[in-house]
Amino acid sequence: MQSWCSCCATQGPASNKDALFRGPCFRSSGLNWPKTEIFIIFFGYMNQNLRDNFPFFQANPGLVYLDSAATALKPTAVLQALNDYNVNQSVNIHRGVYRLSQRATDTVETVRAKTARYLSDAGDALAVFVKGTTEGFNLLAHTLTSPESRLKDFFPAFASEKPPAILLSESEHHANLVPWQVAAKRSGYKLVYLKADADGRIGVSSAEAAALFDSYAIRIVSLSLQSNVTGIIHDLAAIRELAAKHGAVFIVDAAQAAVHVPQKVKALNADFVVFSAHKLFASTGLGAVIGRKPVFDACDTYQTGGGMIALVEHESSTYLEAPARFEAGTQPIAEIYALGAAIDFVTENQKVIHETDEKLRLYADEKLGALEIRVFGLSAGASRSPIYSFEIPGVHAHDTGTLLDEQDICIRAGHHCCQLLMRSFGVAATARASFSVYNTQDDVDRLISGIGYVKKIFRK
Ligand code: PMP
Repeated sequence: MQSWCSCCATQGPASNKDALFRGPCFRSSGLNWPKTEIFIIFFGYMNQNLRDNFPFFQANPGLVYLDSAATALKPTAVLQALNDYNVNQSVNIHRGVYRLSQRATDTVETVRAKTARYLSDAGDALAVFVKGTTEGFNLLAHTLTSPESRLKDFFPAFASEKPPAILLSESEHHANLVPWQVAAKRSGYKLVYLKADADGRIGVSSAEAAALFDSYAIRIVSLSLQSNVTGIIHDLAAIRELAAKHGAVFIVDAAQAAVHVPQKVKALNADFVVFSAHKLFASTGLGAVIGRKPVFDACDTYQTGGGMIALVEHESSTYLEAPARFEAGTQPIAEIYALGAAIDFVTENQKVIHETDEKLRLYADEKLGALEIRVFGLSAGASRSPIYSFEIPGVHAHDTGTLLDEQDICIRAGHHCCQLLMRSFGVAATARASFSVYNTQDDVDRLISGIGYVKKIFRK
């Protein structure tokens, strides 16, 4: 009888090269498995969707991870890419004349092109690497409000004589609020907000939205496609159209949408898209701003220093074109390799990711909806991904989080960097459980019984 390796699914001994990324191999334990058991393992694997790609669960057996909206776990392919750069290459890019450096440069540029294509269909789309969504918005807030940027030719609203304004919504993450507040104060812009309704949807009629564009010279519209609090996928089509009609820059915060609905991000044809690699199964410390190269080239610099200059003299310097213009200093190269692997992973598994999201959402909607708790945004139904902010009446969100942790269930508790939205809900904080491709219906059941335990402790 032939024995198979459960971790590499091939015959013969597991190679040492890949051992770092595998769980214990039964071959080394000397077990020989009959065919029916192999079938059961294979069937179990199919049922678990992509879960077996995530070594986290071998390192943390029994743990229910429900915090993917904060950061996603990393699949083996991503860990291998990080390892490949750090172990086998580990050299700097762009400035090296030797072959290894040129090879690393080629890889980074390939990932750059892949990143732009993942979220944009524009032929001249370019990805500028930043630390994450937060830095992406700091870059845009600085450069788009700078008098040094030459934006009139691309966006006629910048030629308007009316006082300039920036349109945001009450549902935004602080990363898409605070940088604009600082820039508005510095540059004399007015901030205008779309209201969030009781469910957290951006609740504005097209007539109201049109009136806003008539009343103000809105130069910049910056909105998140998907809420990190409720999982709601906002319908931004009408606002996007108005922004185009009035010549405003349209920016999408795709921190959550890049994972759950990348096609919807593309369909909006935004002028800039911002996202973080770590929510897309890659590493912390990296994200991207995707926009058209000619627009980037017309923009004022953001951070300055090495790697972004053409000529340096005593009093001043000239700068390179985008993307180098916006990437001063050494880039997080290993993390860029990892992002390339993550985009391959989500592209190859797009269908399974979507189906798992839907399956979990339907199941968790039913189970959570049947409890006597407040679940924010649940009524949005299919226009959501399985991200659940909830409140157990009379129990503080932090207590809920702590008591769930006692049962090995990881959730988040707090304002989720969305204080304006919390205020519109009339709460200071919520508990949030967010599901991803490695979660199962069993995880939903564990959450439900965990909530039952919290209620019992608090006698609710
Ligand atoms: N926007 C949204 C919608 C988010 O969910 C997050 C992360 N929670 C951010 C922005 C900020 O992302 P980062 O912390 O990676 O910069």
